[in-house]
Amino acid sequence: MTEESAALYVVPTPLGNMGDLTRRAEEILRTVPWVAAEDTRHSGPLLKQLGAQARTIPAHQHNEHEAAAKIVEKLLVGEAVALISDAGTPGISDPGARIVAAVRAAGCKVIPLPGPCAATTALSGSGLLDEHFLFYGFLPSKGGQRRQVLEDLREYPCALVFYEAPHRALETVADLASVLGERTLVIGRELTKLFESIHSCPLNEALEWLKGDPNRQRGEFVLMVSGAPAGTEDGEGERVLKLLLGEGLPVKQAAKLASQITGAAKNALYERALALKE
Ligand code: SAM
Repeated sequence: MTEESAALYVVPTPLGNMGDLTRRAEEILRTVPWVAAEDTRHSGPLLKQLGAQARTIPAHQHNEHEAAAKIVEKLLVGEAVALISDAGTPGISDPGARIVAAVRAAGCKVIPLPGPCAATTALSGSGLLDEHFLFYGFLPSKGGQRRQVLEDLREYPCALVFYEAPHRALETVADLASVLGERTLVIGRELTKLFESIHSCPLNEALEWLKGDPNRQRGEFVLMVSGAPAGTEDGEGERVLKLLLGEGLPVKQAAKLASQITGAAKNALYERALALKE
């Protein structure tokens, strides 16, 4: 190995396109004596293809402590370990963080490699103009909790980046629209794969677009929403809307009045009022 030897290498692997494995990642996987893998069966073909001789250590979300202890043991006797997940970067909505923490706590070296990650890949192709982004990963699977998290994120003036499973895409997009209001949504789907697509539309039109073709609901998703417009009438619109709803006005009338008073968009206020009523 040309790299320092007894270290934990955090190695990103392709999301779909094998050409995305970096030369450095390839060399490390081919030469380390140990590979800690999220799913050893899943990673088997990749390691075989590279001609890797490494023995594997299972390192998934249910055994991270145990796996960390084994990895530290190897490092302390001078053997290098590469950490990989099923796809993308370990520790990013994937197991790995606990292992890295344990290895660092044991005083051993951690060497992270740059490489494939669905969030940054999607963002770089999104065309969203926000200067900042917040990577959230997976939202809660339960609707109430999901909407609460979105409420908490509503005022952030930066793009919001979510991972989502295909079977929850429709309900999540519906919640994004009802809680976040008028924004742009970019859907990055099946990135680096055969059916890769990147679709950008107003958030309140996204649900219809997804329903328009079942193929649009298949595969792996990154959902990116433009940030809350900073310091616009939106915040004021919501404040007035809440006051009017608090006074018992019906949703439609409260939205109309709040819009007339503050200049905020009536439709967005109406959607927002419905969400608040829920
Ligand atoms: N660690 C990975 C990374 O670095 O991106 C993420 C792993 S997480 C368990 C899997 C989620 O990542 C999927 O549900 C999807 O939201 C996103 N994802 C993974 N591959 C993708 C792809 N090819 N296209 C779009 N999203 C993808």
